[in-house]
Amino acid sequence: MELIFRDDAYCRSCEATVLAAGPDGIQLDRTVFYPTGGGQPGDTGVLRWSGGQTHIVDAHKGEGQDEVVHVPAEGAELPEPGAQVAVEIDWERRHRLMRMHTCMHLLCAVITGDVTGGAVGDGKGRLDFNLPDTSLDKERITAELNRLIAEDHEVQPRWITDDELAAYPQLVRTMSVKPPMGAGKVRLLEIAGVDLQPCGGTHVRRTGEIGPVRIGKIENKGRQNRRVNILFAE
Ligand SMILES: [Zn+2]
Repeated sequence: MELIFRDDAYCRSCEATVLAAGPDGIQLDRTVFYPTGGGQPGDTGVLRWSGGQTHIVDAHKGEGQDEVVHVPAEGAELPEPGAQVAVEIDWERRHRLMRMHTCMHLLCAVITGDVTGGAVGDGKGRLDFNLPDTSLDKERITAELNRLIAEDHEVQPRWITDDELAAYPQLVRTMSVKPPMGAGKVRLLEIAGVDLQPCGGTHVRRTGEIGPVRIGKIENKGRQNRRVNILFAE
C-alpha cells in the first residue's frame, strides 16, 4: 500500500482502487489517510465513487506492514472491491493536527526530561515528562514556544538505517513509543537546530505555520510525572 502522507503531508486527495470493503473497514491500494499512531489521531474524510460515497470516521493501522484501514460511518454504503474511488481527507482538521503535532516537537526541545507519553487532539495536545521538578514555569514555556514558532524553523523528515539508530539511541526522546524498527530504515523528524527524533506523523513545513500557542494546565500526575497541556492561542 502506498502511503502518500509519509512523503507529502500536504496531499489532501488521491485516486485509489478498492482492495477490500466491509462495515469494519475499507482497504485501498494507496491513501492520503494517516492512521492513528504516535499520539496522532487517524484522519477523517470521504470516499467517492461512481454512484456512491461514504464518510470515513477514523483510520487505523491494519495487520500488515503499511496497511491502513478506513473506517466507514455506521450503516454507510460500501464500494465494491476493484472500484475506483476518489479519496479525500478533512483537510481543515488534519492541518490543525499537523500544527499541534509539530508544536509537540518544540515542547520536547523547551522542556528537558524524558517524554513518557502524549497525545495530539484537535486544537490541543499534551505531553507527559518524567521530571521530579514541580516548578515548571508556564509563562516561560509559553514564551519559549512562541519564540521557536516565530523563528520559522524548517521542518523536514530524514531517514536513517536501523543500524544507525541502534548506534545513536540518544535520538529517541520518547520512552513510551519505540520507533518502528525492523523495516531497515527509520523516519526521523528534524526541526533544524531545535529537535531531531524518530517520528512517523504528519508535520507542517515550517514552525511559523503553527501559529501562536499557550500552555494550559500543568498537572502533577505522580511524583515524577508532569503533564503539560498546549492550546492554540487563537
Ligand atoms: Zn512528529
